[in-house]
Amino acid sequence: MSTIQGAANNQSAEIFGQLFTHDHEELVFCQDKHTGLKAIIAIHNTVLGPGLGGTRIWNYTSEAEAVNDVLRLSRGMTYKAAISGLNLGGAKAVIIGDAKTIKTEALMRKFGRFVENLHGKYITAEDVNTTTRDMEYVHMETGHVVGLPESMGGGGDPSPVTAYGTYMGMKAAAKHVYGSDSLSGKTVAVQGIGKVGGHLLEYLHKDGAKLIITDINEEVLAKYAKEMGAVVVKGDEIYGQDADVFAPCALGAVLNTENIKKLNCKVIAGAANNQLADENIHGPMLVEKGITYAPDFLINAGGLINVYQEYIGYNRETALRNTERIYDVTLDILKTAEQNGTHTQLAATQLAEKRVNDILRVKSTY
Ligand code: NAD
Repeated sequence: MSTIQGAANNQSAEIFGQLFTHDHEELVFCQDKHTGLKAIIAIHNTVLGPGLGGTRIWNYTSEAEAVNDVLRLSRGMTYKAAISGLNLGGAKAVIIGDAKTIKTEALMRKFGRFVENLHGKYITAEDVNTTTRDMEYVHMETGHVVGLPESMGGGGDPSPVTAYGTYMGMKAAAKHVYGSDSLSGKTVAVQGIGKVGGHLLEYLHKDGAKLIITDINEEVLAKYAKEMGAVVVKGDEIYGQDADVFAPCALGAVLNTENIKKLNCKVIAGAANNQLADENIHGPMLVEKGITYAPDFLINAGGLINVYQEYIGYNRETALRNTERIYDVTLDILKTAEQNGTHTQLAATQLAEKRVNDILRVKSTY
């Protein structure tokens, strides 16, 4: 029986089984006939604080797929918050449907009311297919939302802070591998020149790094080739480039067996989420190939650090200062992984789990 059939035949047992597997706390189904809202909020773990995670709108092919995604993403948020030293738990929300057709003010506000009903146990923000504007609508119904525009006291677009954290993680990985964190004269191949990739290029160019870039957007490529003298390559050619650092900043799962075989770099440090196609296979494969991988959920946490700052009282300087800590944590993780003979993603996950378990004990007495 397929998982989807199983879910349809015995949805409740199937879902509780899934919650049990990674010890999720809560899964909330939100339905509204009038707006067509079908949303699922997953709260993975609130040991460290309220669960914070963005709301993704996606046209899932089945409800089972949506459940699977929200459970996976919420758990990832627990690790990201934990390793970043934030007093936040992990959660996420998905709204099922095509963003182009379903997204309305009423739908976002109705969703905001469901968030409000969780009384702060879940804090939402933007994610794929939701914007700062959408969060303004959510904010009309609940205070438990971050990622608001600066005009409303929020931190605005978190991407520049994400880029800064990724840059810090990259410098730390360079220090570990080359003995110096200077990227001057180093060749960095960047895949995806979007909101994060673009800001990352600014830092790298300022440092005097040589840039190789790829994107599906030709205009963006032309702009950076002209302004920074970046060398443009097409699509998959990016993997085989003779570079010191490869920075995936577009898509997840790009570190698969086929692409890893092509890599010709010593460091991987980028902002994309879930870069390892299968962390148990591709984490060790990178170690064998002598490539140092800066764990994605650690070095792309700048955006989360920024919205956390918004939650406790926004201050850009403090958000950037806290994001700088990614440098030290990355160095620690890379050293620990080397000493323990494990891959870096595993070392990062273990450190995040340790913090959650340690703080759980701290909270065990009145
Ligand atoms: P974005 O959509 O602004 O940029 C992505 C870029 O990748 C676009 O320019 C797009 O044209 C390009 N792209 C898409 N498919 C491609 C392909 N096949 N080959 C090359 N380029 C391709 O997104 P973003 O906000 O810059 O985020 C980039 C990555 O970082 C995503 O994986 C995102 O989940 C992750 N991330 C972003 C943030 C943030 O604050 N924005 C935080 C954490 C993680």
